[in-house]
This record gives sequence, C-alpha cells and structure tokens, in this order.
Amino acid sequence: MSTREVRCSAGVNFGLLYPNGDVYRCMRDYNTRMPPIGNILDDDFAWHDRPLTCQQRVCNTSCDSDWASKWLMSDGAVDRHVPATEWNDVTQQRHPWRDQTLENPQHDAIMLIWTPTLPCNYSCSYCGCAAGKAQVLREFPSATPELTVAQWQDVFARLIKQFSWGQIQTNGGEPFLSDALIPVFEQISQHFSVNVVTNASLKMYELTRSRVKAYDAASDTGLQITASLHPTSHNFRWDSFLGNVLMLKGNGLLRGVNFVGWPGQLFMYEYYRDVFAKYDVEVLLQPWVGMDNEGYQGYTPAESEYVQLHTRSSRKLENQLDLSDYIAMPDHAAELEVSRLNPRDEGGREHIFAVRVTNAGTNTWNPAGAGDVRLGTRLFPASRGKRIAVREDRADLLGPIASGEGRDVEITVRTDEVAPGDYELAFDVVHENKFWFADLGSAEFRMPLVVGHPSLRIAS
Ligand code: SF4
Ligand code: SF4
Repeated sequence: MSTREVRCSAGVNFGLLYPNGDVYRCMRDYNTRMPPIGNILDDDFAWHDRPLTCQQRVCNTSCDSDWASKWLMSDGAVDRHVPATEWNDVTQQRHPWRDQTLENPQHDAIMLIWTPTLPCNYSCSYCGCAAGKAQVLREFPSATPELTVAQWQDVFARLIKQFSWGQIQTNGGEPFLSDALIPVFEQISQHFSVNVVTNASLKMYELTRSRVKAYDAASDTGLQITASLHPTSHNFRWDSFLGNVLMLKGNGLLRGVNFVGWPGQLFMYEYYRDVFAKYDVEVLLQPWVGMDNEGYQGYTPAESEYVQLHTRSSRKLENQLDLSDYIAMPDHAAELEVSRLNPRDEGGREHIFAVRVTNAGTNTWNPAGAGDVRLGTRLFPASRGKRIAVREDRADLLGPIASGEGRDVEITVRTDEVAPGDYELAFDVVHENKFWFADLGSAEFRMPLVVGHPSLRIAS
C-alpha cells in the first residue's frame, strides 16, 4: 500500500498572526483549533524551513487557497501540485508563492494575515465578532492579551529585516479598533504591500492625514483599503460609508468594496454594485460560508444560483480541496464543529450546544448500533495545572457512524452543582469505559465557560 501525504507551504511563508502574537499555519488550522506554530515574541520562534505535512482532510478557506502551495504525494512522488489560486483574476500584483517548488519554497517573501484585534464595533448577523467584546476576547483563541503598539512595532521591524518583500493582509474584528494600526502602517507601508479589510467607520479621516504610503504599483508597496459593506449591521450609516469610501479613493488608498453575500443582504448586491459603478469603484461579492448568529447555514438553490452568477471564479462555492485520500487516517479520530444554541446568560446553569460530529478515523463507531461510542464533554477548572474534570456530560450518536460520515447532535451541559468560576469546556468523542479519543491524539474542541458570578459581571 502506498504512503500518501499532503505537503504544504503554509507555515513557511504564509501564516496568520493573532492579537497575542500567536502564529497559525493557516485559517483552517485556526478554525479547527489546531495549536499555533508558536508565538512571534518567543526567542525561539521560527517559520517552517520546508513544506510540512498537512493534517487536515479538507482545505476550504479562501486565504489558504490563495497563498499556500500544496503537493499531493504518493510514496515520495508528487501526484498533483496545487498552486495558490486567487490572483489570476483579482489582481495583477506579483505572486512569488505561486511558482515555488517543493524543493525550493519561497523564503524571501512573506504573506501574513495580521489580526491585531478581534472585537468589532459592528453587529453583523453573520459574524462571531459581533458577539460583544467580552465574549469575543474570552472565546476566540489567541485573542488576548493584545500586544502593545511598541510590541507590534518591534515584531514588524523584525519582519522587515527578515523578508525583502511581502503582502500583509490585515483583518479583524475591526482592525482600526487597535491603536497599533496606523503607527504600524506608517512603519511598513514603504516595505510591504499592505491591504486592510475594514468596515471603514473608524479613523478613516486620521488615516488620510497620516504618514502611511498609498499603494504604488511600480514598487508593489504601500497601503490599499478594502472597505467592507455591511448594510444590515445595526451601526451601519450609508452616507458615512459612501463618504469615507470616496475620501479613500480620492487619496489613492482604496482597493475596492467587499460585499458579504449573507442571504439577508445578498440580493442587494446589484444595487450597491451599480451605485459604486458611477464612481468607478468595484464591488466584489464574497460568498457567505459557515453559520450565522441565528444558527442557519448554507444557501437555498436560488441564492446559490445568484452567488454563482455574480461572484468571481476564484470565489466560487465549489473552491475547496478534498485531501481525504491523502491524509493518513488514525483508527479513532473525530472532527467537531460546535455552536451554542441557547443564549449566553452568565447566571444560567444550562448550556445547550449543536455539534457536527465527523468520524475522521478508520473504525466505524457503534457498528452494532449499541451506543458505546458517544459525544461527551468534560468541564475543567481554567486555572489549575492538573486537568481534573469537575463534570462530564454525554449525548448519544443515534446509531452507527462510518468512517468519513458526519452527524448533527445536540448536547446539554448542566452546571447547577458546579462552583462559580472560570472553566474550560472540552468536547470529544468517548468510547465508554475505554478511552476518550483525545487520549489517542484526536483534537478536542475547547471553549471557555464562565459559571455563575452574575452580579460581578457586566452584560456584553
Ligand atoms: S493544505 Fe490547506 S489546510 Fe492543509 S496546511 Fe495547507 S493551507 Fe492548511
Ligand atoms: S464588520 Fe466585519 S468583523 Fe465586524 S461584525 Fe461585521 S463582519 Fe464581523
């Protein structure tokens, strides 16, 4: 039987830098709670020196496809090379990552997705960052403590020294909530091509009066702004958005307008596209993926058709790479996607979650339908060194689940008898009386959970 694997340049010259300095290999790793490569402040932090093996069964986020090169291999020989994809129809800028080889990965240029802060001043129905600052800082990995302005300046001084050129893509949350943004842009815009995605509601006036260099195609350096249009967010003000977009354009700072195709605003796309066409500003439709804050996910057939008609080829819905034939599957492994079903109430003692459980191992679970394998949660005190669970809960998986198959399960965690405090809630699959899958190397899904103390906390 041949040995198969996927090697990927993510981590060599492409990575995601989070508010506390943690660096993740790719967005998929961050979203599936894989550990970071390291923290950029650590003395021993280093980028991978060569493309390493990917642990994911699917590569499905656009920045990962845009910037990482993948080699699908059997017995050490490359079956298929999947280069980065986006830039053929989005920009004319250079793309040194697309042409790199397995033997000669790019070491001179860096593509970094920098998230200086994760909270946001908007409340879009389709975004977890709208949950409120306290919850965002508690629940997103690597959200806190945010580095100071001086620490960020030091980090970027080192990146300028290490890489002769690069692309810095800045996201959030709303990145302009970070005090570091304009000082860092003043520092790096002479050296790198910088793009920031912002809702364009904060500090736009200040930016146009700063020392930030506007993008210059000849040197491929300077700042461009992608203004994200969120017309159904509570704080959105149309006149202010239009004014800021035109001010950015007039000052040479605008790249274009981004429009998230969430169903509640999707069909307004053509309206805004036509308004902005008058000002020679392009509006790009971004398909909506994931689950919204009401718990809905996916498009109806009519919505899918509309998206396919209006989005660019690099953003089509089917753009994802199925790696499952190349990933060595362990006997027992699970993939878990978790979302909360009942509203968070810090005095509340019942916590209900929807979990998509996928069998990522080779063994069928409950082959006789007997229910030995179940979804479980364990609640651990956040502060103690030793990991001793104070409570466990279970949910049946309702019959056999074969390798590669997934099922939606609901699980309720009760904390009536748990002392108030900060906890970590870990979701995993358990083979009763034998082992937790995490004990065999499967990834748990962990989230912070606050129990009690309602009088001490301000509602977020
Ligand atoms: S193939 Fe995709 S998911 Fe895997 S490491 Fe590369 S970017 Fe991440
Ligand atoms: S503006 Fe962007 S980051 Fe903020 S809530 Fe909306 S989608 Fe999320």
